[in-house]
Amino acid sequence: MNILIFGPNGSGKGTQGALVKQKYGLDHIESGAIFRQHIGGGTSLGMKAKAYIERGELVPDEITIPMVLDVLGQAGANGWLLDGFPRSIVQAEKLWEALRADGVGLDAVIEILLPREVAKARIMGRRLCVNDPNHPNNIGIPAIAPNGERCRVCGGSLTARPDDQDEEAINKRHDIYYDAVSGTLAACRFFQKMDGAGFRFIELDGERSIEEIQRQLLARLED
Ligand code: AMP
Repeated sequence: MNILIFGPNGSGKGTQGALVKQKYGLDHIESGAIFRQHIGGGTSLGMKAKAYIERGELVPDEITIPMVLDVLGQAGANGWLLDGFPRSIVQAEKLWEALRADGVGLDAVIEILLPREVAKARIMGRRLCVNDPNHPNNIGIPAIAPNGERCRVCGGSLTARPDDQDEEAINKRHDIYYDAVSGTLAACRFFQKMDGAGFRFIELDGERSIEEIQRQLLARLED
């Protein structure tokens, strides 16, 4: 099963993605996480991407598109869940072209809807577990509040991503996400409009609880 997932930073996209990944044994391909691995490993790609990421800007397409298509091409037989890509209309078109050229099917496109101000408050409360970035911890959401200063799932220590505490960077990222002309919402609409192209488009209300969103999502995937 091959799935695309859209949702603004702060919508719970990572949490829902991790659940879907686990249920179907998919490779969770997260463009932001791939960049962070490159930066952590000190690769030349990481060094080129770092400044853009710190400013909350998109990494240029000539770096991002081949990087993501390469990782997609190496995914396991169960398929993939692509998260964080495409983020622009150009990336959407290139992805669709590449999938068609390689004869790779797309099964579902998921969109988690969330108002911009709610998304921003959630990002600033988000904490990352050292053991697993998909362990949900957010000091602004009681249902997934950390256990004191430690991860609520495994007790690991927690950090805040520097770009999560930078309001200007958050606003820039949301400017990109909520841009329905050429940004991420435009990429999402590109797929939404392609009714009948062989995949289902699943819209979810990001203000519902994690459990309820998950229930709706799994029900729609199994329809
Ligand atoms: P994320 O973890 O999804 O918030 O991504 C962190 C950062 O990585 C973003 O703010 C961008 O700088 C960069 N990034 C992630 N995905 C993309 C993409 N599809 N295109 C360009 N830059 C990206």
